[in-house]
Amino acid sequence: MQSNTQEVSAAKSEKCIIVLGPPRSGKGTQRKRLSEILNIPHVSTGELLRHQVRLQTDLGREVDDLMKRGELVPDELVMEVLQRRLAQSDSSNGFVLDGFPRNRAQSRALDDCLIQMGHDRQSKLIFLLMVSESAIIHRLSGRRTCAACGKTFNVVELASSKASTCDIDGSTLVSRNDDLEHTVRNRLLLFEQTISGILAHYSEQGKVFEIDADGSVDEITRSILSKVSF
Ligand code: AMP
Repeated sequence: MQSNTQEVSAAKSEKCIIVLGPPRSGKGTQRKRLSEILNIPHVSTGELLRHQVRLQTDLGREVDDLMKRGELVPDELVMEVLQRRLAQSDSSNGFVLDGFPRNRAQSRALDDCLIQMGHDRQSKLIFLLMVSESAIIHRLSGRRTCAACGKTFNVVELASSKASTCDIDGSTLVSRNDDLEHTVRNRLLLFEQTISGILAHYSEQGKVFEIDADGSVDEITRSILSKVSF
């Protein structure tokens, strides 16, 4: 994936890159690519919370059932893991957020957190991935997660001989509990109920870009980078 220097340096001046989108909109993939291209860490609140569940910490046990049902975790618990992550030194030059904020209160909490960290309130770019329901269902039907390392695959896009094992450690690929269809429908509903409040919050102070996310991964990345090249 190529990008020009001007695009990268313009984007680097934005400390906080926020990628919003419904379940299976491809936000996780784009987050990783933006993080690589801009050389800043990607921070997924879903991954931070799943890590707590795997470690069986008190917080992990508290959120486990909520996550299995596809329900949102209380704001204060999400802020606890997020603040801890953003306090690490590798976040000081910026970071790509994924899965956060999920509601207006979280948008406000993030503003406070950024100010505490010494970032400019304006130093955010917000991308909203727009994806059709048919594309979501296609992606959902093929999604698998490695039981050992947590890497996700889409078996529709893999060669059949490799469709059941992880290409990193050879472990079995499984469907995540929250990939179950009724859970995803719950999450879609939640997303639709909360996105307008978040966008209202950022329209006053941030830069919100709607990105057509039905295309290829490369096209979506190019489209995002084109919005930061000014
Ligand atoms: P994700 O990996 O972003 O799809 O998130 C997986 C699950 O983690 C969600 O269904 C929620 O239960 C929880 N979660 C992740 N991020 C948040 C957040 N910002 N606020 C509340 N719950 C969250």
